[in-house]
Amino acid sequence: MDQKVRVRYAPSPTGYLHIGNAQSALFNYLFARHFNGTMVLRIEDTDTKRNVNAGEESQRENLHWLGIDWDEGPNKPNPKYAPYRQSERNEQGIYHKYIQELLDKGYAYKDYSTPEELEEMRERQRANGEAPHYDGRWYGRSEEDQKAAEAQGLKPTIRFHFPEDHEYEWDDIARGHVSFNSDNLGGDFIIEKSDGMPTYNFAVVVDDHSMEITHVLRGADHISNTPKQMAIYEALGWDHPTFCHIPLIFNPKTRKKLSKRDKDTLQFINEYKKHGYLPEAIFNFIAFLGWSPVGEREIYSPEELIKVYDPDRMSKAPAYFDQKKMDWMNAQYIKDMDVEELTKRTMDWVNDGEIDEAKNLQSVPADELKVLLAKTIHVHQRDVNTLMDIAKHAWDYYTVLDQQFDYSQLVDDDKFDNAEVVAVLNGLKDKIANGGDDEDFYSQAIKEVGKDTGIKGRNLYFPLNLAFTGSTSAPQIYEIMAIYSKDTDIELLDRMIAAF
Ligand code: GLU
Repeated sequence: MDQKVRVRYAPSPTGYLHIGNAQSALFNYLFARHFNGTMVLRIEDTDTKRNVNAGEESQRENLHWLGIDWDEGPNKPNPKYAPYRQSERNEQGIYHKYIQELLDKGYAYKDYSTPEELEEMRERQRANGEAPHYDGRWYGRSEEDQKAAEAQGLKPTIRFHFPEDHEYEWDDIARGHVSFNSDNLGGDFIIEKSDGMPTYNFAVVVDDHSMEITHVLRGADHISNTPKQMAIYEALGWDHPTFCHIPLIFNPKTRKKLSKRDKDTLQFINEYKKHGYLPEAIFNFIAFLGWSPVGEREIYSPEELIKVYDPDRMSKAPAYFDQKKMDWMNAQYIKDMDVEELTKRTMDWVNDGEIDEAKNLQSVPADELKVLLAKTIHVHQRDVNTLMDIAKHAWDYYTVLDQQFDYSQLVDDDKFDNAEVVAVLNGLKDKIANGGDDEDFYSQAIKEVGKDTGIKGRNLYFPLNLAFTGSTSAPQIYEIMAIYSKDTDIELLDRMIAAF
């Protein structure tokens, strides 16, 4: 790339960081870092009715959690381009200056239509089978008409006037050649609202130009906005940046764009955090939503992704959100992680957690918790998907004596001789009552019980699995015995013996 790359992620603080936002942020981040460019965070908060409290903060926190950072933004201003919030830029008159220029040059005009009139117009169009569009009723109106409207106390919006039958076309990094005709864009559009706030399509052009943005990577839902923005670039005599419209994320069930109303799908970044996903796994997962590197490999660290990222491989087709794949990917990261690191991550997750799986364990003293988690991880690192799964197992082990196991499944099973079951349980109890308390000892003790009694295979292991976990199928049972204290092991054996 010859030019110095400047890209931006420009969220509207209207809610929590959604996976679709995160996807835009992530591709901008990969683009900036891959080309040694600059990543800008700009807050598009001009739609004051839709802004939510802490929306901006949530964006920042969740981006940080994902490992996405930026070089310029509200908290890291470069004086050449600041401020980075559109509301502040508006207060400085940055947008209105250009609105005035467009008015003066005849590219824009005041529209005094009332909301009722506009609604009536659209109704009529719908009734005639036309697509709703602004019919240009205030274009070219006389000064007297405008004065009369002002005298009635009406406040105008300012509309951009499209030239007739004009093609807007661009070569999109992801979509290839795209073109729109000005006659099919819904008519002259509002660039300044009656309260003096610029609209998105206008402010974004002024900002991308004045912040010297070279590449605009954003969701494909903005494709139909791009010709409107190009019209403004053209009117102001500015070059437009290179566009890349990132594929939308689809729900595989509805085969439609993922919707915030799809309640069965986790789709906010804070939910991934809350449910014990690892940020680097989510980063990896999102990078594959609408893009893929050459070859079959799917696990890439953020650093590796920065290196192999190639914008020419952005896809055009929608990206299907696959929860199973996300779980699988998270599991791969868990499997590959150093036990000490994984223990620390799980501890932190428990300590920060707001859901029951985390809160339960917050009652365990820190030293004890650390040992409990390390042992649980030792048993389950290969079979869990999330930190939450680890915490659930740990809590089950911690509260084992409060649980009621259902022993009837073996008592009533003809394949198991009750006398044999009791012999196994008693045999093990004797061995451990007078022996060590670690995994190796327990493993050896079980083997010896097998030898002493001549009972082997599932007749040996099913009863023991049931005694210590409440289920006949369990991972290495001697590892689980070592999670509990020896007293607990003996108590669990006694309870089952009593049931037989
Ligand atoms: N504020 C817009 C959004 O959140 C940004 C679109 C753009 O990147 O131009 O969708």
